[in-house]
Amino acid sequence: MSEYNKPLPIPTVEQEPFWRYCKNHELRMQKCPECGYIRHPAGIICPHCHSLAEAEWVKLSGQGKIFSFVIFRRAYDKAFAGDIPYAVASIEMEEGPRMMSNIVGCEVENITIGMPVKVIFEDVTEEFTLPRFKPA
Ligand SMILES: [Zn+2]
Repeated sequence: MSEYNKPLPIPTVEQEPFWRYCKNHELRMQKCPECGYIRHPAGIICPHCHSLAEAEWVKLSGQGKIFSFVIFRRAYDKAFAGDIPYAVASIEMEEGPRMMSNIVGCEVENITIGMPVKVIFEDVTEEFTLPRFKPA
């Protein structure tokens, strides 16, 4: 693994399992046992039914589509200067929840709203694996 100089996640206690599963190359999110709502980011309360019941970490298909995106053409953090231009997107997962990530594996000019994407996992440090998305 080469040296990784970009910012890394600082998980809360509730979010720590999400990153542990990513390290295992699994995309899992919390599913409410009361109403079935799948939420992200992780938290102690269901935003849909307000249940405090302990959520189950269900495995997602990894398939989704681009809900919205922006293309960075300027490095606001010099750690990302080598990546310009790069895309940051809100991805709507097949199971419903949305998550923020990068779109990789294609020219940024070819990215469109509604484009089908699939998760990939990049082991960036010993501690962290980042989920990113490529065209499906
Ligand atoms: Zn619920």
